[in-house]
Amino acid sequence: MTAHPLFDIGGRTALVTGSSRGIGHALALGLAEAGCTVVLNGRDADRLSEAAARLPGDRIRTAVFDVTDGASVAAGIADVEERVGPLDILVNNAGMQLRAPLLEFTDAAWHRILDTNLTSAFLVGREAARRMTGRGHGKIVNICSLQSEVARPGIAPYAATKGALKMLTKGMCADWGPSGVQVNGLGPGYIETELTRPLMADEEFSAWVRRRTPAGRWGRTEDLVGGLLFLASPAADFVNGQILYVDGGMTSVL
Ligand code: NAP
Repeated sequence: MTAHPLFDIGGRTALVTGSSRGIGHALALGLAEAGCTVVLNGRDADRLSEAAARLPGDRIRTAVFDVTDGASVAAGIADVEERVGPLDILVNNAGMQLRAPLLEFTDAAWHRILDTNLTSAFLVGREAARRMTGRGHGKIVNICSLQSEVARPGIAPYAATKGALKMLTKGMCADWGPSGVQVNGLGPGYIETELTRPLMADEEFSAWVRRRTPAGRWGRTEDLVGGLLFLASPAADFVNGQILYVDGGMTSVL
């Protein structure tokens, strides 16, 4: 049996920010397996080369730049388009977590998490969309979170960034949809990565995640690939401004 042509993204060029490890790396692998040329991004050249070597095929490229720095982003996207080709797909995935009670959260930590999780998507999205809107097509997927909808003690700033990213997704859809660019969000639940390592190591918390999730388990990075491939494909050409939660059902139940 062959896949439906609506899901065919072979030959497209995709950039995944923050793809040296974790969710970004798994999404890059999924795009590569679907036949895309994939550009990996991160801040560390060595780590990025090692990450590229772990992916199959000869269509993997790297682009080292910090997604929080406007000048680096502008130069990075221009360089990718010149060196690799026009971007068809952008995945704004780079992100971080800083856990602390809100009363103890410092100004510096607040600005750092906002820059990394929210401003980055604006900067990279704007640079990519300048080109995509000119060409009349493109797919942008912002990696949101179940915390785009719900918060917990100790992660208010993270939830604020992910809630805002949900609304930035809708705003990008409003501005760029008329030019043929579809912007959507993918909202992972609790996924096993370095970012959640401290939570997995806490047996009580880990058991709570399993109990609280209808699917009865933590998510794996590969659980997110199907949703991304859908949002990046022609099957989603009339899907604009939506957040697809891939969370084992957690946002749907109390
Ligand atoms: P991770 O394992 O910590 O990986 C984060 C990635 O982002 C790394 O590749 C890192 O690369 C890159 N990065 C961080 N800051 C960057 C910057 N300023 N410029 C460029 N790259 C940067 O995190 P993850 O768990 O895979 O999370 C990925 C995304 O999914 C994040 O947006 C996160 O909020 C979201 N998410 C995760 C979960 C979860 O349960 N894990 C749930 C919901 C949403 P370098 O350090 O090499 O630069």
